[in-house]
Amino acid sequence: MMKDASAKRIEIWQETLQGHGCRLTDARRAVMSILASSKTALTPQEIYDLARDNDLSLGIASVYRTLEILANLNLIQQIHQPGGCQAYWPTLVGHEHFMICKECGRMEIFEGTDDLNELFQKVEEKSGYQIQEHWLQLFGVCEQCQ
Ligand SMILES: [Zn+2]
Ligand SMILES: [Zn+2]
Repeated sequence: MMKDASAKRIEIWQETLQGHGCRLTDARRAVMSILASSKTALTPQEIYDLARDNDLSLGIASVYRTLEILANLNLIQQIHQPGGCQAYWPTLVGHEHFMICKECGRMEIFEGTDDLNELFQKVEEKSGYQIQEHWLQLFGVCEQCQ
């Protein structure tokens, strides 16, 4: 199941890149396949190391450049973590949120619900804002790490 999801993701990314006139170099393919199948958010250095472990030769500069392109096309996003925001993960599609295990860094997606609307209404009343979007990220300890 995970494999299908990441294969589909890579397909969409490649189409989007090509649609924007970006060449699909080996380095870009390598970065995409590592990120699309990762269970944890990855920093540029981690992606670089993983690629080298898999005998893919690419420079750290192409890792940064590929991440920049993917982020500009809104295909990946920087993930906020206690240690900083250098790690990336695929952008969520539709009303989804994710949680991160504080022990192993595993990321899990969960379906968003309307439960939060009550909270947002209160925030609107207090602030005078019209809330249009929200971005929610939960931290916890996964089943395996408990
Ligand atoms: Zn864990
Ligand atoms: Zn939500």
